[in-house]
Amino acid sequence: MTELARKIREGDTRALARLATGVENRDAHALETLRELEPAMGHARIVGITGPPGAGKSTLVDALALELRKRGKTLAILAVDPSSRSTGGAILGDRIRMQQHHADPGIFIRSMATRGTLGGMARATADLAKLMDAAGKDYVIIETVGVGQDEIEITSVAQVTVVVLVPGMGDDVQAIKAGIMEIADIFVINKSDHPGAERVEMELHAEGFQCPVIRTVASEGKGIAELADAVGTVAGRTTIHAPRGAAIDHLGIAVQSLEDSIRFYESLGLAVEHRESVATEKVDVAMLPVGESRIELLQASSPDSPIAKFLEKRGPGLHHVALRVPDLNAAVAGLKAAGARLLNEPRAGAGGHIYVFVHPASTGGVLLELIQESAH
Ligand code: ZN
Repeated sequence: MTELARKIREGDTRALARLATGVENRDAHALETLRELEPAMGHARIVGITGPPGAGKSTLVDALALELRKRGKTLAILAVDPSSRSTGGAILGDRIRMQQHHADPGIFIRSMATRGTLGGMARATADLAKLMDAAGKDYVIIETVGVGQDEIEITSVAQVTVVVLVPGMGDDVQAIKAGIMEIADIFVINKSDHPGAERVEMELHAEGFQCPVIRTVASEGKGIAELADAVGTVAGRTTIHAPRGAAIDHLGIAVQSLEDSIRFYESLGLAVEHRESVATEKVDVAMLPVGESRIELLQASSPDSPIAKFLEKRGPGLHHVALRVPDLNAAVAGLKAAGARLLNEPRAGAGGHIYVFVHPASTGGVLLELIQESAH
């Protein structure tokens, strides 16, 4: 590991600021270091906060940051201003915040103003979020200045998107509905002590939005604890936490007869590499390599085997898909943060490999096995 990457993993704030600048400038060395840090990613919760100007987003983000710090969480705030009109706006906000959080190394703040194309900006934001993740931040908050299509693209980097509205917006709710409302995982009605908060909430329900609606008065800290709870627990999307560098380790197939199935796969030119009876799982296993991955044939060795139950319920067929991931613990932390249903804590299997199972309800209908990539 290079010196710079090591320093970032050790929590060196100066090194982090330096690399962040390099990543923002798309410097080749910086991007190389970022790739080097990939195994350390997958822990942070990435939260996007967007909404029209004047909704009090900065105040809300600051209040949320203080609440998360109170809970012992570390975080990074990425303030993104894709509009070339308001040059310096984000930078000014940055300075004000710097004073407030100055002495706290648990908050890292970065402002990004327009640089190059919008697509480039979204990419840079995504990379900065990954960098903050690798640096060990528990939360990365991406705050955008406005609420246009640009912001939608930038916010799509986040796993959980908070759309901030305020009372008295009237037709504005209609106006900003295009695109932005659909990406909301949480709605905040800020300045909810103003008249009309009720109406905004009713409109959201009338439009059929199912996600949580939280009323806040950010300037007084009201509703912020609820917001912190919500951003920590709402399922959101799991894009950024998809295991990096994952590969299919094997496909597990539940069969009635190991011998018959082995004969079939042998006729295709595959060969059994390994056979085993796993007493604890009450299953007989045959492993047949296929390229970089394998087919795992599973036969019940007892009537109360999980495989016997599976055959009874669903018949023979695909039982699970196993992915090999570079950092199982990080993947598990990410899955937990995203609300996925794990069937066990990471544990050692027969061959000494560490694995965890994820319930089909969280994976699109198939039992998923995640396996720690071995060192060799
Ligand atoms: Zn398996």
